Amino acid sequence: MSKTLQAIRGMNDILPHEMPYWQFLEQTLRDLLACYGYEEIRFPIVEHTELFSRAIGEVTDIVEKEMYTFNDRNGDSLTLRPEGTAGCVRAAIENGLLHNQVQRLWYMGSMFRHERPQKGRYRQFHQVGVETYGMTGPEIDAELILMTARLWRNLGLHNAISAEDTETAGSGLVLQINSLGTPAARIIYREHLVKYFSAHHDQLDEDSKRRLHSNPLRILDSKNPALQTLNTNAPQLSDYLDDESTAHFAALCAYLDAAGLRYQINPRLVRGLDYYNKTVFEWVSDTLGAQGTICAGGRYDGLVEQIGGKSTPAIGFAAGLERLVALLQTHTTPADRPPHVYLVMIGEPASRAGLLLAEKLRDALPSLRLISDCAGGSLKSQLKRADKSCARFAVILAEQELATGTVSVKALRDQDQKQESVPVTSLIKFLADAMA
Ligand code: ATP
Ligand code: MG
Repeated sequence: MSKTLQAIRGMNDILPHEMPYWQFLEQTLRDLLACYGYEEIRFPIVEHTELFSRAIGEVTDIVEKEMYTFNDRNGDSLTLRPEGTAGCVRAAIENGLLHNQVQRLWYMGSMFRHERPQKGRYRQFHQVGVETYGMTGPEIDAELILMTARLWRNLGLHNAISAEDTETAGSGLVLQINSLGTPAARIIYREHLVKYFSAHHDQLDEDSKRRLHSNPLRILDSKNPALQTLNTNAPQLSDYLDDESTAHFAALCAYLDAAGLRYQINPRLVRGLDYYNKTVFEWVSDTLGAQGTICAGGRYDGLVEQIGGKSTPAIGFAAGLERLVALLQTHTTPADRPPHVYLVMIGEPASRAGLLLAEKLRDALPSLRLISDCAGGSLKSQLKRADKSCARFAVILAEQELATGTVSVKALRDQDQKQESVPVTSLIKFLADAMA
């Protein structure tokens, strides 16, 4: 036997038994997004490398060390998308979606980052991304955030998100918000930050030393507990914000207050990608361990122009589906959809008749969930499979039933109910009544 092949580290198979959670999540997302007027967009998984280095920023973690980049057969440098915003902006510009119009877009799919695989962090993972274009004011920021809060409610993850809820230990989702101001305000702040961290150079870890001059704001985002005190005492961006960003942020907070949504202002929330300005936010769960951020986003008013379009205000977010599924698995059980009928067929003539009978039943009862046993074998082994399928009824077709124009119906979930013989001509009515 040849050596068995394995999946790439950090790239997961999602197996049938996990699928009910994924499907519930994806369907809930689609339904809610449609209710808020969002339209789906799909764009390629592979783009020119330059798109990501330009959009995300040369000195970000993603571009510096996480991208799957390769040369194709023409020698062009291509990259598997590490996130969706850059591709979405590229597609929107290229297809003229941004000219003099407002857009509310969403997408869902695989993203790729060469990170160290661990719980909640994979090399192929899935995100739902939501992007809006053409809206400048804090209203859309508020609507977007309120929509995420409603999403958690619709998913049954509604603990501790409204002002009425008291602190619920162990199951909370916390909304953190901050304002990054304008790029100009950030440049001034950055100088003060570099001065501060340089004065405490001996306390920085290797990563932070590297970032000190390339991307000092990212030091604030460090997950290293040893840097906590240093970061807490660092100068705060809010003291350097321009008036317009301050007013925008105050208005956003007022909307969230009025809607009764609780949030924490986290002055050290800077986000790992360069394109953000003004509003940034994250939803963090306290039940997922270190990888607790389930949703993150912000405003990126400069990105469209940076990628070659006309200046367009924008705000969006992305949520990691693996982390949401992990949360769902601890909170809810998605509704099962077991088959109504498992069709047992004994012998070749019965198999032939059974196949046609199954199609007739499907014609008459379009929502009937019916599994035919096409694997054959004894009555006992087929009934075993019927039971394992969790079907409500086994419908049995063997020589005797064929000869008398009947089927035997056995209730699999109800011990008290006896097996009964039902004429084939009444089977549709029998099943319709049972399904009602
Ligand atoms: P982190 O700080 O966890 O590395 P990030 O800032 O790199 O997150 P974003 O680029 O904002 O993450 O992505 C949005 C969301 O996508 C994250 O909040 C998370 O839920 C999910 N996500 C990001 N990277 C991964 C990954 N490697 N595996 C699984 N989910 C991920
Ligand atoms: Mg990351």
